[in-house]
Amino acid sequence: MQGLMQDWPLLCHRVIDHAAIQHGNREVVSRSIEGPIHRTNYRDIRKRALKVAQRLEKDGIKLGDRVATLAWNTWRHLETWYGITGIGAVYHTINPRLFPDQITYIVNHAEDRLMFLDTTFVPLMEKLQDKLTIQRYVILTDRAHMPQTRLRNAVAYEEWIDEVNGDFTWASFDENAACGMCYTSGTTGNPKGVVYSHRSNVLHSLMALTPDAFDLSVQDTIMPVVPFFHANGWTIAFSAPMAGCRLILPGMKLDGVSIYELLEGERVTMTAAVPTIWLMLLNHMETNNLKLSTLRRVLIGGSACPRAMIEKFEKNYGVTVAHAWGMTEMNPIGSICAIKPDYDAKDVEAILDVKAKQGAAPFSVEMKIVDDSEKELPWDGKTFGRLKVKGVAVAKAYFKGEGGSILDENGFFDTGDVATIDPYGNLQITDRSKDVIKSGGEWISSIDLENLAVGHPKVMEAAVIGVRHPKWDERPLLIIIPKKGESPTREEILGYMEGKIAKWWMPDDVVFVEEIPHTATGKVLRREVRARLT
Ligand code: AMP
Repeated sequence: MQGLMQDWPLLCHRVIDHAAIQHGNREVVSRSIEGPIHRTNYRDIRKRALKVAQRLEKDGIKLGDRVATLAWNTWRHLETWYGITGIGAVYHTINPRLFPDQITYIVNHAEDRLMFLDTTFVPLMEKLQDKLTIQRYVILTDRAHMPQTRLRNAVAYEEWIDEVNGDFTWASFDENAACGMCYTSGTTGNPKGVVYSHRSNVLHSLMALTPDAFDLSVQDTIMPVVPFFHANGWTIAFSAPMAGCRLILPGMKLDGVSIYELLEGERVTMTAAVPTIWLMLLNHMETNNLKLSTLRRVLIGGSACPRAMIEKFEKNYGVTVAHAWGMTEMNPIGSICAIKPDYDAKDVEAILDVKAKQGAAPFSVEMKIVDDSEKELPWDGKTFGRLKVKGVAVAKAYFKGEGGSILDENGFFDTGDVATIDPYGNLQITDRSKDVIKSGGEWISSIDLENLAVGHPKVMEAAVIGVRHPKWDERPLLIIIPKKGESPTREEILGYMEGKIAKWWMPDDVVFVEEIPHTATGKVLRREVRARLT
């Protein structure tokens, strides 16, 4: 027997329709690439997205075609997402921090036909265009700010959408149709294309709204500092209008001063980004003795959030931290910190210990840890294993079948991460499987050591790598960037770590450096650190 409820395909344009009807006046505020703060609302975003859709069709873009975006978070970028997906085309976000060769590879692999880009990326694309599949460049600005360019069929966005009247109806298609694309950062081999569906985006966004995840309501003002091009922008472009919250888009200025200015000036209540962003903000606030008056929640993920950072936000600024783990292959959230009532940690310090873990899987994600023979390992908070996931917003294959079959016989995807899971379902990421340090047959977590080291008041950033050892196979080496004006010694750092970790986890040595290389999404580039130091 079938249910007798209506068939209402989960399509992303329904989200902006809903926002325009129910929350039409709710503001969308952006720091424009041109400089000034720009204000619009969901009603106008939808109107202009309809023009984008209509105009794309005029340019011959059809259902399933890929359209690249190389842009910071602004209202125009948001409009392009809804315009592209509204005709069943596929937004392909490109991380501008990738090497030019990687950009060339992924644009051609995706066969992008048109690109929306910020003015700041025009010189880069001029260098690459002769090698690319792109037939038209739409520059996200108006006529007055349009740069002189030899980009193919270049046009200013505002002029381009003004060529149509917006009298247009969204296309209708299956909810499993492709909606967006993002390539993995590809630390080994070529980047691989992950293809999100409308259904996975809508369901992931609904999940993200829940109180133990983003905890968003119509009362909130959210600022995604995480760029739309990092792992599907954590679906905030959908979840914010779904909830009807005010949306603040920070553009290209992500330094501590600019972010603080928007958090306070726009009365932001919830924000999201990787730990490096928060490091810059906390430094700025500490140096200038500043407080946060409206922010209540900060979502931190993308790499491990040090306990010391969580402690600072919660104790010094009264802001709750939601530590999340996720990946491009997952839309992207896989787990998020939820302090369950049956957790036996009652005091503040013990709660902070739990928050430093990456949290539990929300509904829609299943997870397990396995050993090398695929045997499932216990959830005891101690046993390390390869983390595997399954769910409504988890990739089942890469674009064009790259990498072959990526699921095991039970339909689980191997995340490439190594983790423990405690009896309450809380995940703790130990390392990427290729980064774990194997010492005397046992594993040492570089993430744990890094997080401990950054708790030292003179340490700005830390990285840990394994170095060859004749007896133990590998031993940890700690690399540190001291805070401005500080010069900690090896003994001070190791003394601080003593007693907080098992003796045999203690780094053999400490190296002080001025810079630690990062990937395009802000993760420590351990391969490069290793190459420089070993
Ligand atoms: P990306 O696809 O670029 O977002 O990278 C995903 C990878 O980032 C994951 O597989 C993890 O290795 C790492 N990652 C993401 N969030 C966290 C976190 N909260 N703690 C530790 N590692 C994380």
